[in-house]
Amino acid sequence: MTDRTVSLVIHGGAGPLRGGDYSREVAHMRGLIEAGRDRLNAGAPALDVVQETIVALEVSGLYVAGRGASPNTDGVYELDASLMHGPSRRLGAVAALVGFKSPITAARAVMEKTPHVMLAGQGAAAFAARQGLEAVDDPAAWFTHAWRGAGKTAAELATGTVGCLALDQSGALAAGTSTGGAFGKLPGRVGDSPIAGAGVWADDRVAVSCTGSGEMFIRAAVAAQIAHRVRFAGAPLGQAAEAALAEVAALGGEGGLIALSATGELVMPYNSAGMKRAALYPDGRIVSDVFQAGS
Ligand code: ASP
Repeated sequence: MTDRTVSLVIHGGAGPLRGGDYSREVAHMRGLIEAGRDRLNAGAPALDVVQETIVALEVSGLYVAGRGASPNTDGVYELDASLMHGPSRRLGAVAALVGFKSPITAARAVMEKTPHVMLAGQGAAAFAARQGLEAVDDPAAWFTHAWRGAGKTAAELATGTVGCLALDQSGALAAGTSTGGAFGKLPGRVGDSPIAGAGVWADDRVAVSCTGSGEMFIRAAVAAQIAHRVRFAGAPLGQAAEAALAEVAALGGEGGLIALSATGELVMPYNSAGMKRAALYPDGRIVSDVFQAGS
């Protein structure tokens, strides 16, 4: 293993309410960046660090993913997640998964224990049960409903998802995304988060995780578009990300993304009011913020 610079990026969703107090989330994300930095510096693989970080985001209940997720219009918590390994492009995802605490852990199991890249609905839940993954026995007690405190309707609330990217000492990238999906979604609705090329991507050069209006992120193939602009057009990462977000905006969507290159370029653009985010830059600098642009 070479002694290369590591990097780590988190987003906690592009749906913060203007004027909201997100000091807990900012501190939480910074703590996760510091913990992940130590793991990466100790030689941990990017894939493991991405999964561990997303598990912590999911079970915290602070974000609209995992424990903090919002229900669909039937009151059921259907969760989506994906995990992708850059060098091998191995991929695992779950969609509309009901009844389990960590969708990202289910996604990892799909990657490693099946010949498939995605399991959905009842099949995903049956698989998670066979894998012995931790179940949610009492949804009313488990889910935090933290988003309700905002006193907003589903339509007024924007979105919230979590994502993480890592670059490890071997130069490998990994990406993951986990979400409760859009507020007020129909039963069975699946957004961009579990779809490779839309809400998640990792290859040998670029890793991406998105948050925002999932339908538009799928229609613009945001994550693949960024990777392909870099690979085939030689675009700088920041320019590729801005161009993809502009397409989302042109389709009437909004949101943001995190993107990281194997050479250590790191960008966190958004066109929403803010985006919960934190990063360890390759030079060792850490930022954790919600509303300030340009960090
Ligand atoms: N993109 C997610 C979805 O549409 C939602 C979000 O990012 O908050 O499912």
